[in-house]
Order: sequence, then C-alpha cells, then structure tokens
Amino acid sequence: MSDPTLPPLYDRWMTNHLPGPVTPEPRATCEDCVMCSKPDGTMPAVAYPFNPRVRCCSYTPHLPNFLVGAILADDHPATAAGQVSVRERIAAGIGVTPLGLSHSPVTATLHNASVNAHGVSEALRCPHYVVEDATCGIWRHRNGMCATWWCKHERGATGHHFWMTLKALLDAVEQALARWCLLELDYGVGGLPMTLIRSGEEEIGRLDANALDGRVDPSVQSLYWGAWVGREEEFYQACAARVAPLAWKDVLDICGPDVGLFAKGLLDAWMAREAHDVPARLRLGGFHLLGINEQGATVVTYSPFDPITIPALLMTALHYFDGRSTEEAFQVLADERGLQLDDALLGALLDYRVFVDAPE
Ligand code: SF4
Ligand code: SF4
Repeated sequence: MSDPTLPPLYDRWMTNHLPGPVTPEPRATCEDCVMCSKPDGTMPAVAYPFNPRVRCCSYTPHLPNFLVGAILADDHPATAAGQVSVRERIAAGIGVTPLGLSHSPVTATLHNASVNAHGVSEALRCPHYVVEDATCGIWRHRNGMCATWWCKHERGATGHHFWMTLKALLDAVEQALARWCLLELDYGVGGLPMTLIRSGEEEIGRLDANALDGRVDPSVQSLYWGAWVGREEEFYQACAARVAPLAWKDVLDICGPDVGLFAKGLLDAWMAREAHDVPARLRLGGFHLLGINEQGATVVTYSPFDPITIPALLMTALHYFDGRSTEEAFQVLADERGLQLDDALLGALLDYRVFVDAPE
C-alpha cells in the first residue's frame, strides 16, 4: 500500500471526516521538483525557480508537543534523520517549550523580512530537510502547514482554498491538542506567558540579546518546564501517547467550537472542489503578465508558483467578459471572433480566477 498523502495520524482523522480520500496534487512532482531548473538548464515557467538544496522547505516548522513526541518514539527508518534534527532543536533550547518546538525568533524575523527568498535561500532552510536525498526527516509526523502546502494545484485557486482550509483546521487542532496535553499531564501553567499558551509559539520580532546570540536563559527554561526540566523528551513522548489513540470524534469533543467551525468549513471547501458550476455572469479577475509569445500569455493569478497560459486568440477577446451574461459573452465571442471555449479551458480560467463571478 502506498503512503497516504497526509501524515498517518491526520490521514486517519480526515478519513473519518471527509467523504473521500485526500489525494496529492499531481502537478507538484516532488520526486523531481517541478519548481527547480533541470540539469539541461530548462527553467520552470514560474516567477523564479527554486534551489534544489531547499525546494519549498524554506522555514522552520512549529511542531506541537505531541508531534515532537511521535517523532522521538518512531523507530521507522524514514524518521531516523528527523529524530537527530529534533534532538538538536531540543538541545539548542531555542523555542523549546511544553507546547512544542517553535522557530527561533531570529529565523522567523528573517523569514518575514525576506523577499523572493522562499525556496531559494539556504539560510531559511528547514532543519529537518535532508539535503543529500532531498527528503523530509519528519515526513510521517510533519505538521499541518507542511502536510498541506503544494506549489501547484490541479484546480488552481479552488484547490488552493481546499488545502488552506485543511491547514487552518490542522493548525487549530495542533494548538488545542497541545494545550489539552498540558492539562492531561497536570502541567502547572504558571510559568508560561499567556501569549505563548494561546498561540503555542514565541512572539515574532522580539529579539533580545539572548535571541540574537542564540542563547537560552536557563531561568526562563526552568520557569517554563517546572518539574519536567531536563526531562523534555519524556514529556513530549507522554503527550504523543495521549494523542495517538484519539479518534476524530474525540478530537472534535476535546478541541471545541473553534475546531468544529474549521471542520465544517473544510467540508464546504471539499464540496467546492467537487463542483464545476459556471456563474451566470463573468468578469475578469486580476492577473500579472509573466511572459508572452506566439502561443499566448503566461499570467500569474492566485500564486506566483502556479502561472497559467492564456491562448493568444483568447487574450485579445477577454474584454467580452465584462459582467454581461455568460451566455451572451460566449455568443459574441463565437459571432465576432469565431471562438468557442471548451469546457476544460473554461474550467481552468474559472479555477485560476482569470474569470470571476460578476454580481448582478
Ligand atoms: S511541493 Fe515542493 S517539493 Fe513538491 S514539487 Fe512543489 S516545490 Fe517541489
Ligand atoms: S518539516 Fe519536512 S516538509 Fe516541512 S519544511 Fe521541513 S523538510 Fe520540508
């Protein structure tokens, strides 16, 4: 049986929640990264190519306590490198709290301030990325962000919306379950700042001397960890043991209305991805021109990583879609330009928001 698209724990929960399996995005060919230049020098048709030594693994993921514990407890060979990198993060102590492992404030600030560096800069590379074989050391236990990010989406913005809604749900589940683990383990929360309890991560942009120099203040660490100080790995594994047996119904009960709302939103996003409705009136959405040749124009709509090519003939006739009825626009297009849009092209133009719904 092939690996599920999602990490096994999240796959089990989503199998219980969604009407069908979550399948990968076929145009994001990770085994031969579609965003990187080829050895013969062929460049991908995107705003800028990625660096094969980084690919899309351009940030340091926040890992909730139960995922840290699951990595440490997993004896699968695919997780061996991840155990090393997670132990390195724990030993470094930066962003290591009972809620999980968060990014260092310096890395987070660099990431936020960078421009066109995602996928390129090695300074931003994830500590769990295994450069030698271009794999993820914690693949089986990666977080919601990593499990849902794709550079390309079969259904453009419609597909992107589905994955971002799933990300929002998994983010909320991770935050809530990380807090639930503190209650389960009778952890005294007195030492944790309230802002940290809410988000699970240190505030970005707060760079004191310790943060800038990569040092950890031992007094803060002992305040954070209380009776568990020095036993961080044991704590994380205890969290994983609490979460591993939970059914999706348990997760919904524990996590409350926040997660309930996101779960409902995900079902709506699933249905939207299944639907192929054509609005009664269409107008043009916004796009940036990336390149043009005799075949047509390559434009960026919802993402710089997933441009679309509009055929040259159609490019000169887009102005017919000005809010008049879709039926009339098609008729004029046929009468005046002899053009007929087939279903596949029309679907792509809608999915990529070249055409958008025009309210009456
Ligand atoms: S999702 Fe990441 S690794 Fe996969 S093809 Fe896209 S950029 Fe490459
Ligand atoms: S955790 Fe894995 S998938 Fe996520 S950024 Fe790091 S290497 Fe990439």
